[in-house]
Amino acid sequence: MYYTNDSYVFHNGKFLKPAEANTNLYGQTLHYGNGVFEGIRAYDTPEGAKIFKGLDHYERLIKGAHVMSMEFNYTPEELCEITYELLEKNNLKDAYIRPLITTGADMSLRTSSEVNITIQCWEWGKYMGDKLLRVMTSSFQRPNPKSCFVETKVTGHYVNSILSTNEAKQKGFDEALLLDMNGNVAECSGANVFMQKGNKLVTPPKGHIMPGITRSTVIDLCKEEGFEVEEKHFTLEELKQADACFFTGTAAEVVGLQSLDDYQFPLAWEESLGYQLMHMYKDLVLGKRKLQSV
Ligand code: PMP
Repeated sequence: MYYTNDSYVFHNGKFLKPAEANTNLYGQTLHYGNGVFEGIRAYDTPEGAKIFKGLDHYERLIKGAHVMSMEFNYTPEELCEITYELLEKNNLKDAYIRPLITTGADMSLRTSSEVNITIQCWEWGKYMGDKLLRVMTSSFQRPNPKSCFVETKVTGHYVNSILSTNEAKQKGFDEALLLDMNGNVAECSGANVFMQKGNKLVTPPKGHIMPGITRSTVIDLCKEEGFEVEEKHFTLEELKQADACFFTGTAAEVVGLQSLDDYQFPLAWEESLGYQLMHMYKDLVLGKRKLQSV
C-alpha cells in the first residue's frame, strides 16, 4: 500500500491526508498525460534520513514543468526542505518520494494555467527485486526526441514504459530493453543500461534517453575508481556479445542482468564491474562513502 490513514501528502502548500487532497476530474494530466513527476529516494543513514541528490531531481522536475509551460514558484532547495518535513510527518527515513505536477482543466491542447504540486512518499522495497534480471528486447522503441522532450519525466511519456513492461511480463520476462528510433540500444522502461566488455563499460550517450541521475552517479564512481567508461551508441548485436550488463535508476539502483532474449551474459555477476558499482552505490546513498560530486 502506498498510504494509510496516518499518511500525509504535501499538496499545494499544505500537508494533508491523502483522502483530503483532490485532483480535477477534468484536468489535463488525466485527459492528456500533461503532468511532470520525479522519482526520488531517501535513505536511513547514520546522520538520519538523507534524500539522495534531491536538488538534481527537483531541478529536473522544474525543467520538465518549464518545457511543458507549467510555471511554479518553488525552488529546488524549498522543495527539498518540504520533502524532509513530509518524511518526518510520515515517520519515514527509508522512502521513495514522488513529486507530481498536475495541470487544471483545459480541453484545448494548450497547457492550462492552473498548476498544482503534490508530493507523496512511501516505503518501498527493491523495485526490480534482488535477483538478476531476465530481459527481453521490446517491440516498442523509445520515443523520437523530436516528438517530445525525452529527457523529462512527463507523465504521458510513461505510456511507452507501461506498454513495454506489460509486453515483457506477459512473455514471462522481468523487464524490457528498448531501442531508439535508429535501432541503437537506448534504455530499459525505467532505468539506464551499461554493458561491460573486457574491463570497459559502455553506456548510450544523451539524446535518445532519460539522462538518469543514477547513471551520472555511476559514471562519477567509475571515474573515481579508474574504471574506463565510454558514452557511445551501440547495437543490440554488440550488446549480445558483451560480458555483462546492468541497469541503473533511482528505484532500481544498480541491478545486473542474467540474460537478454536468449543470450546469457557469460561473466559471473559477482566478478563484474557492475557488482562492484552496485556496492559502491549502496555505500554512497547510505552515507558510508563520499563522492566529490555529491
Ligand atoms: N530511464 C527512464 C525511462 C526512467 O524513467 C528513469 C527513472 N527516472 C531512468 C532512466 C533512470 O533515471 P534516474 O537514475 O534519474 O532515476
